[in-house]
Amino acid sequence: MHLSIIIPLFNESESLKILADEIHSVLNDLNYVYEIIFIDDGSTDNSWDIIRSLTSETNIKAIRLKKNIGKSTALDLGFLHANGKVVITMDADLQDDPHEIPALYNMIINDGYDLVSGWKKNRLDPISKTIPTKLYNWATRMMSGISLHDFNCGLKAYSLDVVKAIKLSGEMHRYIPLLAKHAGYDKIGEKIIHHRKRTYGETKYGGWNRFSNGLLDLISISFLHKFGKAPMHLFGFLGIVCFLIGFVIAAYLTYTKIILLQFNMTDRPLFYLGMLCMIIGTQLFLSGFLGELIIRNKPANHVDKISQKIGF
Ligand code: UDP
Ligand code: MG
Repeated sequence: MHLSIIIPLFNESESLKILADEIHSVLNDLNYVYEIIFIDDGSTDNSWDIIRSLTSETNIKAIRLKKNIGKSTALDLGFLHANGKVVITMDADLQDDPHEIPALYNMIINDGYDLVSGWKKNRLDPISKTIPTKLYNWATRMMSGISLHDFNCGLKAYSLDVVKAIKLSGEMHRYIPLLAKHAGYDKIGEKIIHHRKRTYGETKYGGWNRFSNGLLDLISISFLHKFGKAPMHLFGFLGIVCFLIGFVIAAYLTYTKIILLQFNMTDRPLFYLGMLCMIIGTQLFLSGFLGELIIRNKPANHVDKISQKIGF
């Protein structure tokens, strides 16, 4: 199979049939063998009924989550079911143009990219979205060392082994290129894509808190990549440094008290600083141990917790 097209959706009933028809008309002309995988992220409108009826066409699969868990989990489930040599993700709201698919496919197959991310250079969204997004992309570029302009673009193409190597949860879909790089897939390209205005329904990502959450997620990903497999390397080091500072202060105060016979140790603020450093140092060290215990007991796969109904 040439292509798997993964489409996460939450309350997008008006767009779904139009999108499926658009994809068919682009890909059938080019004789691609492909599948479309719709993942209904717990919609409360009739999106599920619509995609279920679309499964009468043999190359469409529909999967439904029990409740609205988030775009990342929906994509993750799509990745699990994908079979095409190239995997394309796109939003369900008709903002991404299916005419971009063939060029993205060629960049993976012929140019050898692991991942190609769309760039909505001329983005047709309100200014409350576009300006903060620029800031967020700049911060992500700086922290990740990946020179993309539009990390969170819904339209992306991957080779199959990339999607099988990454695990998405929470709101991590914003950082897929970074996760791919961490997994060893660093041939990451970019393509300027045609972006369209939302015609039906409304954005699911309008709140301002998505930027603070997004930056916190970026810090978590970078932290996990660096220390996720060896938390003791961070906490143990900080703990020892902190404890030693406290210990030196305590030793100095003991010296002034016992040898120089100066004032009472507890009268000096330095005494409390020394105590604090030793206590915090010990706690940091113990956090490192706890981290090591937790990663060794981590369950391998969380996917079982999601209910799936495939194409009935
Ligand atoms: N989406 C989803 N689960 C959610 C929120 C959004 O599957 O909890 C889907 C949504 O239906 C759309 C895509 O993710 O297909 C992108 O969402 P949206 O268009 O609202 O984001 P925007 O383009 O405004 O950034
Ligand atoms: Mg959209």
